[in-house]
Amino acid sequence: MLAVAFLTIGIIFPHHADAKLLAPDIQISSNTFSQGDTMMVVIKNEPAGVVGRLGAVKLRFFRNEDDKDWVAIVGIPVHKDPGNYRLLIRVAGKAAFDSSIAVKKRNFPITVLAITRELAKKGYTAKKIVTTVQNDENKQLNKVLNVITPVSYVSKPFTYPLQMTNVMGEFGDIRKSGKYSIQHMGVDLQAPVGTPVYAINDGKVVFVKKGLPDYGDMMVVDHGLGVYSLYLHLSQFNFKEGDWVNQQDTIALSGATGYVTGPHLHFAVKVRGSGLDPWKFVTATKALW
Ligand SMILES: [Zn+2]
Repeated sequence: MLAVAFLTIGIIFPHHADAKLLAPDIQISSNTFSQGDTMMVVIKNEPAGVVGRLGAVKLRFFRNEDDKDWVAIVGIPVHKDPGNYRLLIRVAGKAAFDSSIAVKKRNFPITVLAITRELAKKGYTAKKIVTTVQNDENKQLNKVLNVITPVSYVSKPFTYPLQMTNVMGEFGDIRKSGKYSIQHMGVDLQAPVGTPVYAINDGKVVFVKKGLPDYGDMMVVDHGLGVYSLYLHLSQFNFKEGDWVNQQDTIALSGATGYVTGPHLHFAVKVRGSGLDPWKFVTATKALW
């Protein structure tokens, strides 16, 4: 009986070669996310190419600073259907990593699209604010944001754009006035006019625009692989389109330009076309990289 059993194992094993392969050392920032979150994936100490998918979304891996690990930044868009998604990662010569990621619905509060007397005097109406953003400003911006630079310009975690960070307006609030509403796709950070604004990571300045009715004076930095940071309502630019910036460079000064009820920095992050919670984005990259 025993001899037969060994023989059977000997025959079967070659067909299950995967079972003998080592598991890759893969770290995932969590297995549960909310809409607007950022998922970090790190593969430790692998020299060869790696591929992966979350559901139908391809993961875009790049090299870490020490050139040993692979990192992927995965955006969970605010409109992604809640549910379970298969996370499948393949590393050459290692066993496949097959896991499930849960995406939960995030309930964004409905707040007021404020129009102060001062703004009304300048001609701002709810209709004007919403239609200008949707039909003009976002169209100009999307021409830039829809470009996916095929390489990463970053190799270390992201940092915050201000020295003192005090959130005055949360990400995702649905700001409403009458029949007009618009979702707030960044965070508003307290900043008196003239506060230094730092690049949150290395990258290339790809959009510098003065005098947009809603966004004011704004700047966009491309970090590669479809990751962008956006800085709105500025008062001064220190770089121009095409310039390279390093993390922590003072790229601009904050202000109160465009549609604002007071001075602040509107800070936003886009990952391959999706606006993500920028606060959680920076925190996620700091926590696991
Ligand atoms: Zn804002």
